[in-house]
Amino acid sequence: MCPRGGRWLGGSGGPLAQATLTAHCLLVEAGNALVLVDTGLGTADVASPKRLGQPFRALVRPQCREGETAVRQIERAGLDPQDVRHVVVTHLDVDHAGGLGDFPEAEVHVLAPELPAAKNPPLRERGRYVPAQWAHGPRWAEHEVAGDRWFGFESVRLLEDLDVEIAMVPLLGHSTGHAGIAVNTGQGWLFHCGDAYFHHDEVATPPSCPIGLRLFQNVVGHDRDLRRHNQGRLQALAREYRHDVHLVCSHDPVYMGPAGRAEELTGAAGAEPGR
Ligand SMILES: [Zn+2]
Repeated sequence: MCPRGGRWLGGSGGPLAQATLTAHCLLVEAGNALVLVDTGLGTADVASPKRLGQPFRALVRPQCREGETAVRQIERAGLDPQDVRHVVVTHLDVDHAGGLGDFPEAEVHVLAPELPAAKNPPLRERGRYVPAQWAHGPRWAEHEVAGDRWFGFESVRLLEDLDVEIAMVPLLGHSTGHAGIAVNTGQGWLFHCGDAYFHHDEVATPPSCPIGLRLFQNVVGHDRDLRRHNQGRLQALAREYRHDVHLVCSHDPVYMGPAGRAEELTGAAGAEPGR
């Protein structure tokens, strides 16, 4: 996504310079199954970008390249998209749920408050959800939090029958039922925090954020106080457990690392993706 905003959005240059925002997804190999965390934009969004809505397209300026969709990247990695049995979403915003239709057989796991909010949003939140992205009728698995703990956070353990540890951790504020998704990689936890924060320095000590990104989060957020409260908890988590937990968020390109960055900047959609 290439919004105007330059360094005010974490890029470089003046207010009309193009910034780059990613929509990170995680692919987890769990025995014979694949688990996808978030879906970004999907092939149907690329085929008809209009369904994303004019305000989103004008503001965020998504590039809509089919080669960058999760399903095509999975194919390029030599894996079969039909093995994606489960999709876990941080939330159902337009830039996170777009690829759901590319995995029509997958069970879709979501924190319980998010689905009713997405299906029946109040007027001011109607633009953020695109019902066409789940019009195929996925099998939803709505998760309530039931007493599990993860590094002091409430959580719910997912997919216990698979050979992987995944925890859904409520991080409310950005949307009604927003969650982070923690995956035990065997070498520490990788914690996909979705849109709980937008810039890596927001969970640094001391925290900071480019002003444009801060404004954007305030405008689109569901509950500002809750969001800030949870950002504070994430900052403490990153500080106290820096050897155990690696945090990433959806939209900061820094998490792609140098190789991913080079691919992105050259637009080399056919390049070998990092695994
Ligand atoms: Zn987002």
